[in-house]
Amino acid sequence: MPAPRRNNRANALVQQAAPPPWGPAEIRALQAVVNGDPGERPRAAGDEAPDTPSWDLIVVGAGITGAGVARDAAMRGLKVLVVDARDLAFGTSSRSSRLIHGGVRYLEQGEIGLVYEALRERRLLYKIAGHLVQPVQFLFPAYRGDRLPLWKLRLGLTLYDALSLYRSNRHRTLSPAAACQREPLLAEAGLRGAVTYEDAVTDDARLTLTTLQDARRHGAEVLTYAPVAALRRSGPHHLVELADGSQILGRAVVVAAGPWTSERLLGVAGHDLLTLSRGIHIVLRSADLPIRQPVVVQAAREKRILFVVPWGARTYLGTTDSVYEGDPGNSSVTMADADELFALIGRVLPSQHLRADRIVSAWSGVRPLVRAASAGRGRSTVELSRSHRILTTESGVLAIVGGKLTTYRAMAEDAVDKVVAAIGHRGPRCSTHRHPLVPGEPINQLELRHPHLAALAPRHGPFARELAARIARDPELGRQLVPDLPYLWVEVDHAIACEGCVHLEDLLRRRLPLALTEAELGVQVARQVAERLVDAWGGTSRDVDLELERYRDVMRQETGRILAPC
Ligand SMILES: Cc1cc2nc3c(=O)[nH]c(=O)nc-3n(C[C@H](O)[C@H](O)[C@H](O)COP(=O)(O)OP(=O)(O)OC[C@H]3O[C@@H](n4cnc5c(N)ncnc54)[C@H](O)[C@@H]3O)c2cc1C
Repeated sequence: MPAPRRNNRANALVQQAAPPPWGPAEIRALQAVVNGDPGERPRAAGDEAPDTPSWDLIVVGAGITGAGVARDAAMRGLKVLVVDARDLAFGTSSRSSRLIHGGVRYLEQGEIGLVYEALRERRLLYKIAGHLVQPVQFLFPAYRGDRLPLWKLRLGLTLYDALSLYRSNRHRTLSPAAACQREPLLAEAGLRGAVTYEDAVTDDARLTLTTLQDARRHGAEVLTYAPVAALRRSGPHHLVELADGSQILGRAVVVAAGPWTSERLLGVAGHDLLTLSRGIHIVLRSADLPIRQPVVVQAAREKRILFVVPWGARTYLGTTDSVYEGDPGNSSVTMADADELFALIGRVLPSQHLRADRIVSAWSGVRPLVRAASAGRGRSTVELSRSHRILTTESGVLAIVGGKLTTYRAMAEDAVDKVVAAIGHRGPRCSTHRHPLVPGEPINQLELRHPHLAALAPRHGPFARELAARIARDPELGRQLVPDLPYLWVEVDHAIACEGCVHLEDLLRRRLPLALTEAELGVQVARQVAERLVDAWGGTSRDVDLELERYRDVMRQETGRILAPC
């Protein structure tokens, strides 16, 4: 075993307030380092692999799980490289229901430990990512004949309060009249009452980005559009081979490839490891479904609940839960999915606008659920556990699968404990629960009166002050990208220079959720945004057209809708 090394570099970097820039120059420089050739020449076949590892830890996958692992490891002083086949959060981590929650429905499945852990993590995320994880009161109505009658909801939420150690707003029971007063859109017929309880909403892709940015602040590097083709052993080290032939040597490897975690990456250990389950969400204008708070809807037959969530000028609804067997990158929303959601939700929130022609955007994601030993192929994915699993392959690669967005920090702690034990690293213990993802004083109520800070703070936290200062220097940057949505041009420039954007879809789909809030509005500004991005990369007008084509293809694939040309 190699002698344990101390890495004080990360401790020095922790002092940095902002993550280092992450634009075209930095991306190219890292590509060159990874290719092992300052001239950016791909390594020729047969070249000897270097025998001194450049990295303590290579993380495969820049979803929320990989981001959490990278941050934790970098904070413990490891030199970390994250590689992703596509953009960060390209997979499930930008396609969730965007909730940080204990998971009320898991109580029904007896998963008390999972709910306890998730509620603890929710509490920690309020502390370390307060601008991104916002508590909201959910309304859960019960109707005559529902699988979960009101008394069961009250019992379950009494337990939920206890599992949260009574540190959040306790649940309340409402009469049918009080429930309708609180949410006038609720169907009145058969309503037996409702409960309100606290959970939280987030922006999943930005939580992933912000976690990675904090990892970068602690010295980690992140390379996107670098698919891993093979993992091999090279003496005492691990050799990660990228699809372009580059070889990277690390002392440890963690695979966090979400639904892509398979035999191809892990060998026999990956065989039949996961069951994939597809879930879709649909976005409407809030005027078409003007709910006042998130509403929970029971599915009639399965042990499943759905969420209807207000999202600024939009409302989104989801999700479905069905076995999926295709490429996780190609999951798509179909009209049958939309009809299913409209039928289930229309029972509780009847609206003439629950119609296909009112959909303004949609997304589709694939859950990587750990396959239960008892799970036959026919078993409903709704009943599969959302807990995580860490396994070690024969060659010593660690893989982390399953889990939830909510529990990513705890999952990462678990994985990095195993990494440091495996490589004999002596450094500080996990401290990810103590330090905010974005350093600095939270934006206060007085500052929120400033229109730019009010728009920027929910996505950027204390860093919003820096962006507002740029707007003060150049007021053009304070313009909204599109009317009625709070995204500003300063965020476009910042994303290009500092948030690792390679393609237009990275920016419009994951740095800013414009494509999700309204696909057609994304199209309206796509050309202008593409021009800025391509200009920064030193491309030509042909590259702008290619980016626009790519963006339309990706959005058409995911939303199942034909977008106007941009
Ligand atoms: C519909 C739906 C709703 C959900 N709602 C919630 C919710 O509200 N709250 C909650 O807590 N959880 C929710 N979840 C679960 C949560 O979203 C996932 O558990 C989590 O996002 C998984 O993250 P991940 O990083 O493991 O996987 P991913 O986000 O999929 O990341 C895996 C990454 O690995 C990369 N990759 C794959 N193959 C390779 C390769 N060969 N080389 C390099 N990189 C590779 C991919 O490009 C991808 O970026 C939901 C999931 C779904 C599908």
